[in-house]
Amino acid sequence: MTAAVTVSDLVVHRGARRVLHEVSCSVPPGRVTGLLGPSGSGKSTLLRAVVGVQRVHSGTVTVLGRPAGAAELRARVGYVTQSPSVYPDLTVRENARYFAALAGRDAAAADAALADVGLGAAAGQLVGALSGGQRGRASLACALVARPELLVLDEPTVGLDPLLRVELWAHFHALAAAGTTLVVSSHVMDEAGRCDQLLLLRDGRLLSDSTPAQLRARTGTDDLEEAFLSLVRAEQVPA
Ligand code: ADP
Ligand code: MG
Repeated sequence: MTAAVTVSDLVVHRGARRVLHEVSCSVPPGRVTGLLGPSGSGKSTLLRAVVGVQRVHSGTVTVLGRPAGAAELRARVGYVTQSPSVYPDLTVRENARYFAALAGRDAAAADAALADVGLGAAAGQLVGALSGGQRGRASLACALVARPELLVLDEPTVGLDPLLRVELWAHFHALAAAGTTLVVSSHVMDEAGRCDQLLLLRDGRLLSDSTPAQLRARTGTDDLEEAFLSLVRAEQVPA
């Protein structure tokens, strides 16, 4: 099985600081990979490197067999940033149809994407009038509509009500079952158990690249938050 994304010895500096320290990991195709870690641990930076918008100090990032950021990946990779990237002066439906048109898709595909994120009923509203959670979902719909092979989602469930979070995770898994590769970041450890593969990041260092089951076995606990803490403690033990 060829990895959808391979990161090797990635080092990234932001400002004067090194924020990623020789990170190596891989993302299996057709799965939901979670990138978990506290705020400031480097999740957004790593995702930016995967989509090719982050200046890299050293190391390599290969995406769908090409160097991250290669022009031909543009149509194959979807990226939803932490801050919603939709037009506030257009309605939800107009946004979705605009992004659909850019991707060569029709209005029906736009409506389907809105339904997928639970925004069907809000389609006629101006994005500027939406709540933060709704705006995030509108951004997500605009990425989904292009049906990318790799979907990179930076904290897509932040601020959503629990029911909607569950529905979105179910949708992520449905997309994966249909062959899409997803990378989803979160700072909430209770989302870790929803991922097929888990990347745990702390202070710009990768603590673990495993399945939730492997992580539980390795740390001897069923609680993934506790597992994360035990990896942190293990790192802090002087050699
Ligand atoms: P996360 O997404 O996990 O919260 P980030 O990747 O956004 O983490 O940030 C990682 C580190 O890089 C943090 O210490 C943050 O302060 C720093 N950082 C983020 N953006 C910039 C920037 N534009 N300039 C300098 N430092 C930055
Ligand atoms: Mg972030």
